[in-house]
Amino acid sequence: MKTTSLSPHLACLLGGAIGDALGGPIEFLSLAQIRAKFGPSGITGYAQLDGGIARFTDDTQMTLFTAEGFLLAPPNADPIPTVHRAYRAWLQTQSGRFDPSRKVLEGRLLALPEMWALRAPGATCLSALRSGRVGSIAQPLNDSKGCGGIMRAAPAGLLFEPQVAFEMGCRLAALTHGHPSGYLSAGFFACLVSALLRGSDLPAAIRLAQLLLLGHTGREETAAAIQAALSLAADSSVPPSPEAVERLGGAWIGEEALAISLYCALVHPTDFRAAVLLSVNHSGDSDSTGAITGNLLGAALGLAAIPQEWIEPIELRAEIERLAVEIEKAASPR
Ligand SMILES: [Mg+2]
Repeated sequence: MKTTSLSPHLACLLGGAIGDALGGPIEFLSLAQIRAKFGPSGITGYAQLDGGIARFTDDTQMTLFTAEGFLLAPPNADPIPTVHRAYRAWLQTQSGRFDPSRKVLEGRLLALPEMWALRAPGATCLSALRSGRVGSIAQPLNDSKGCGGIMRAAPAGLLFEPQVAFEMGCRLAALTHGHPSGYLSAGFFACLVSALLRGSDLPAAIRLAQLLLLGHTGREETAAAIQAALSLAADSSVPPSPEAVERLGGAWIGEEALAISLYCALVHPTDFRAAVLLSVNHSGDSDSTGAITGNLLGAALGLAAIPQEWIEPIELRAEIERLAVEIEKAASPR
């Protein structure tokens, strides 16, 4: 068992926020544009500090609302309806007008002005939540497989044992993303976080999640993307590089975001900095792959592995720390 001094719950949440904040400023830049602006290595730290603060994007905003939703769910009840309410609260924050008096959700996040900032929110999340309908695996809302499901799923892995985390990850993503690749990638990722937190190494965590994936229909694209990441990571003729990352796609869809993050974690399993920098310096959805990779490496390696100069300036650090403590208290026994 890991000791709490390594704070893997906190490291997972902080790691995700850091990866998100690193990737945010280059989300919409091609690799050529990133290199032209920042040099041949791309970004090597925060490209943008706002009054000394490293701002995260919608990925972390929604991850924090996922965490708060799970924490506010009534004991012994299905938590997914409360997670949906938390996403409705997030939708409220995207109205462009700070108004915490209209309470969609109890909890602390709605009272924080930072959470109301518009940081390129995903169109599928917005439209699905605006519809007022509740998506599920049995009754999909749409056919979207965008990475808006997986990018926010880490708290399911922090709270539940791997098999339950897989199901919860799928179900929280299916609230907004109806295509199997949109929610199975999220379930797979949540399962990985859970297994890593319980001391599995990454290859063992992947094997477990692959076994669980076998029980789901519509898994073919997700399974193929994972296999592509594993094969590329095992190919000694291909050194890790942004060009290698781009062989796995652009990460705008769930299974590609999962594949890129898996690849970066597999080729740099003990180096948070190298894995997360590799995960953001490419032409695709840099903040989402940064967030997912940061969640994975944080859960695997704990707080000590995260560069202190990346932790210090992260937005809402105190709130992330509070949520991590509450999650650790609420988490299923290991
Ligand atoms: Mg984003």
